[in-house]
Amino acid sequence: MSPYLIVPRKGHDISRRQISPHALVTLYRLRDNGFIAYLVGGCVRDLLLKRPPKDFDVATDATPGQIKRLFRNCRLVGRRFRLAHLHFKDEIIEVSTFRAAAPPEEEDEDLEAEGRGEVPPHRRRHLKDEEGMVLRDNVFGTPEEDALRRDFTINSLAYNIADLTVIDYTGGLRDLRERVIRPIGDPEVRFREDPVRMLRAVRFAASLDFTIEPAAWEALCRLSPAIVRASPARLYEEIQKLFLYGSARRVFDLMDRSGLLEALFPRLGPWLREDPRHRQEIQTNLEGIDDLFRNGTPASPALLLAALFGRELEARTVAVSRGEGIPHQQALDRVCNEALKEIARTVAVTSRSGDGLRRILSSQPALRRMPPRRPAAVAARGEFADALAYLRFKALAGEEYRVPLAWWEAFLSGVPPERIPLPAREGTAEGKDKVRKRRRRRRRGKPKGRAQQGEASPAVPGGEGSAP
Ligand code: ATP
Ligand code: MG
Repeated sequence: MSPYLIVPRKGHDISRRQISPHALVTLYRLRDNGFIAYLVGGCVRDLLLKRPPKDFDVATDATPGQIKRLFRNCRLVGRRFRLAHLHFKDEIIEVSTFRAAAPPEEEDEDLEAEGRGEVPPHRRRHLKDEEGMVLRDNVFGTPEEDALRRDFTINSLAYNIADLTVIDYTGGLRDLRERVIRPIGDPEVRFREDPVRMLRAVRFAASLDFTIEPAAWEALCRLSPAIVRASPARLYEEIQKLFLYGSARRVFDLMDRSGLLEALFPRLGPWLREDPRHRQEIQTNLEGIDDLFRNGTPASPALLLAALFGRELEARTVAVSRGEGIPHQQALDRVCNEALKEIARTVAVTSRSGDGLRRILSSQPALRRMPPRRPAAVAARGEFADALAYLRFKALAGEEYRVPLAWWEAFLSGVPPERIPLPAREGTAEGKDKVRKRRRRRRRGKPKGRAQQGEASPAVPGGEGSAP
């Protein structure tokens, strides 16, 4: 047993008033029935940092079956390890039984294969609780083992309802004070065990404004290619937590520097190396994503995809459309399909978000056309808000997007379309002339393709259309 720190109520700032009443009810009922009951994980960290916790997790020595008998609102979930979810009106409190670290996957098969006889109970993968449920890959453990199996020291603190103390098994309190993300144990081992911990390290460093401890950072940079071993579904979930909660810009920088970004999204590597402006554009987009979060209107996953991949996809679309002489929209569909297929190999982006990305990008020519055609119809499209948000990101980085953005903002604020001034650049005789000439030529040459081409070629100099 390692020595550990117990901080009495007077020595810390966690007050019961900050704890969800449902979590308190849960803790007290467990304690009153003779069980150990701790608040654990992110909520203890957040309470100590005076940040509102996302959720309250409870750990106890009661088994899942015992928890179920104590709480009528309990549902047992999870295949790998049975967790109890207590359903309250607007909140779910997760209650888990203390457990020890999972032994490596093949360990017990190895032991048996080596002919060392029966695997001792505490090493067994297939453990049954009293209800006959199989607890795979896990064993119940002591409170200390439960703390040591967690990812980072700051996530391993416990708040004991019995005496209102904070229990620190790993040096988490010191690391909270020093603002350090430190894996529990050998960083390399812990990142190999579960590569998603690398993304979690980045997430906590970015969102809490902490630094990743140097040895862990070094291991993370070295092991970043292994991130692709995590399941695509889990990675998609983690990507959303990384980028949609107000610190996308910092997350991006850490992922970029560590190699995680290119490991997850190989197509971004060459794009970022091609031109330093590409990185700045993505950073600007992500600052826009963070602003949306701060204003209480978090970005959709589709808009996040556009922020990350939009510019590269648009550039590729122009190249394909020009190179093969196919309409912009057709090129865009193909480029998006290819990209989404490639991304899906590592990150399970939902088809809904993928479609959203495609629609955001295909709306851009209609948004940039000045004056817009049938603006009310354009604004009524489902993807309009996201498409305009994406245009707004681009306007932060480039002059040429500001005029159409100003037009749409005037339109949305109720100015009648005919009273919205048109861009000075196009208002000049020269600009108008050019537009007229291009239109006339097209009308003669390709009567049928006009609508499609028109859609593809915004009448903005330097637009993304497939120029003849
Ligand atoms: P958030 O505020 O984002 O919810 P959190 O720290 O509560 O952060 P959760 O994903 O809710 O994160 O996990 C709860 C706790 O479970 C963590 O604080 C940590 O102790 C433990 N944990 C979660 N994921 C892992 C992991 N991959 N490896 C080890 N421990 C983990
Ligand atoms: Mg949590």
